[in-house]
Amino acid sequence: MIGYHDFLPTPQILTNNGQTVKLTVSKNATRERLPYIFGATLKQNQHYEMEQLHFHWGIKNNRGAEHVLNGVRYPMEMHIVHRNVAYSNLSQATQHEDGVVVVAIFFHLQDEHNEFFQALASKLAGVQWARTELPVNMSITLMSLIPSNTDVFYTYKGSFTTPPCSEVVTWIVFATPVPISFRQMNTFRVLSNGEETLGDNFRRLQDIGQRKIYIRRLYSAFSNKYNDSRLNLTNLSWFWL
Ligand SMILES: [Zn+2]
Repeated sequence: MIGYHDFLPTPQILTNNGQTVKLTVSKNATRERLPYIFGATLKQNQHYEMEQLHFHWGIKNNRGAEHVLNGVRYPMEMHIVHRNVAYSNLSQATQHEDGVVVVAIFFHLQDEHNEFFQALASKLAGVQWARTELPVNMSITLMSLIPSNTDVFYTYKGSFTTPPCSEVVTWIVFATPVPISFRQMNTFRVLSNGEETLGDNFRRLQDIGQRKIYIRRLYSAFSNKYNDSRLNLTNLSWFWL
């Protein structure tokens, strides 16, 4: 279940940390409910709240995403990082195999603006320089930033790339991309990493190894099936905190 329907609490903080641009909810936010997920293939009774979201994108349109799906590499991928609320903070959560869930969303390019994405895209110029922060008050829901079709997703366990390399990240990768315009894509390419254009901030492809990837498809309104299939989905468990 995805609890992405409520507006994100405000203020939010947009940060260019020189490696990516990320969005967090300010510690000063009047405490409203953060976006959350639970259920599906996650452990029962485990509840995960959004910590932050960030992006990986290409300088050119032929690259950017961290996962390659059936041979397609999209120009951008968004990661929504969630912490198991049983743990008090993200670094605590990373000590536990059920600690972190990352939802990955692909973007594909089209001529028309995605009006739901525009609030965020229009703020990026405010964090053009590396190591800058901008408080923002966007009236957005995460629901509006994810695909309208969430019926098909891939899920697998991945590890952090830094020690301890415990398998603490449950990845949920939606198969359907979200459309954005070329101009919206280019709002990311005005960002600086301190020396040059920030971008190509995706990790190189990793071997799938022995990981099991599960695909969930809704075959009809009445039947869910889980197939254990090896797919051309590459584990790239790197993300920035
Ligand atoms: Zn990431």
